[in-house]
Amino acid sequence: MFNIVEGAANYMDADNTKLRAIPAIDRLLAVAESCDDLKHYPRELIAGFLRKAAADAREQVRQGLDPDTSPEALVTYAKDLLAQASQPSLRRLINATGVVLHTNLGRAPLSKRARVCVAGIMEGYSTLEYNVTNGQRGSRYAHVSEQLRKLTGAEDTLVVNNNAAAVMLVLSALAKGREVIVSRGELVEIGGSFRVPDVLKQSGATLVEVGTTNKTHLYDYEQAIGPNTAAILKVHTSNYCIVGFTSKPAESELAALAHKYNLPVIEDLGSGTLMPLALGGQTEPAVTGRFAAGFDIVTFSGDKLLGASQAGIIAGKAHYISMMKKHPLLRAIRIDKLSLAALEGTLMDYLLGNPVYDVPVLAMLSASDSQLKERALKLKELIAQHTRPGITIEVVRVESPAGGGALPAAVLTGYGVVVAVPNLSANQLESRLRQRNVPIIVRVQDDNVLFDVRCLSEADLEEIAQVLHNIM
Ligand SMILES: *Cc1c(COP(=O)(O)O)cnc(C)c1O
Repeated sequence: MFNIVEGAANYMDADNTKLRAIPAIDRLLAVAESCDDLKHYPRELIAGFLRKAAADAREQVRQGLDPDTSPEALVTYAKDLLAQASQPSLRRLINATGVVLHTNLGRAPLSKRARVCVAGIMEGYSTLEYNVTNGQRGSRYAHVSEQLRKLTGAEDTLVVNNNAAAVMLVLSALAKGREVIVSRGELVEIGGSFRVPDVLKQSGATLVEVGTTNKTHLYDYEQAIGPNTAAILKVHTSNYCIVGFTSKPAESELAALAHKYNLPVIEDLGSGTLMPLALGGQTEPAVTGRFAAGFDIVTFSGDKLLGASQAGIIAGKAHYISMMKKHPLLRAIRIDKLSLAALEGTLMDYLLGNPVYDVPVLAMLSASDSQLKERALKLKELIAQHTRPGITIEVVRVESPAGGGALPAAVLTGYGVVVAVPNLSANQLESRLRQRNVPIIVRVQDDNVLFDVRCLSEADLEEIAQVLHNIM
């Protein structure tokens, strides 16, 4: 008993000596002040990080550890804390998942022209709501209106914060307090709790469900039309498909029915594409076709298949759009100038360039087998340059979805590189790759780490090889 207490007392002494060895903040500050890379920071800020460094060292001593408590070591530790604090939470990462429109990874990377447009207005004032021709107040909606009219064939267009907001505005402006008819096959939930019945309710419209999950006929719609009907709503079943025993009326028939009763057909296209796409065994019709079929209003996202910034695009008949332009909700969901600039740049790619080449989303989705195989071989070669015995690097065939609720049935085939490192499980390697300043997000498949090369640039390939070299 006595011995134990004595032992504890000795331990406390050692502890106290170590604690006393931790330099005072003034002493640490003096060392920090001689560091060139800390010169530009306010003294009080540096003092804060030094205090934290000293506190962490004290805590380690209390836990029985033996940290280096030299002033130099503590200043270096404080510099690491400063570097961590300087790292934005929202930052670039490398997408090696192969999913092009990955909602969690920021959806569409921007085209070069889009980035130039954003950079151009980022640094100062802009023509956001100013008309330089007459020196009067202008409209932020005017900047992309003509391009969108050209690209969609619509009479008029309006751009808001995102497509969810676009649907909300359309329904509020055209159907508040009245009924909207929707097929039961289209009462979908899109990721992020966007549920068609809930959105309708929020907009103040009443949902009238017709048909069944797999089949809705023209007469189902017609029977539901009454004196309080405001519109027929079609919803793209973005992230799933109903296959087999299904049917729905032809678009032109549905439009003709609606127009017979003076009702608009509204379509939430979700992804929406400005050019017809046929990928991975599935086709996505272009927006232009919806107006040819007789639809009155369509809405779609800016950052899905279109490949621009977050935005919601509303296109259609001018008299309906003018009701939305006057609606008070518009002010609450207006698009910001950076998104607008990126959108304009991307639309210019469509009008003045070669979108399949210039717009990253389209380039990645339509990359050919030989392009992807070449990229995978390149990655393998770069990794192999730094390899050590026992490491497996293999080019494999891969399949991936398009993502972003676009082309749900499409399976895109491409290439990837599988890497296995001895003494490091796939999950451990995945986690190391993820927890970096520039995270590398991979797929883990059969206890291997897989780099799908579809979304990787030349620079990404180099970076991945370099990082693996450091880890291995
Ligand atoms: C993605 C999607 C939305 C939401 O679009 P955001 O631009 O993400 O707001 C709405 N409806 C459908 C059918 C979608 O696919």
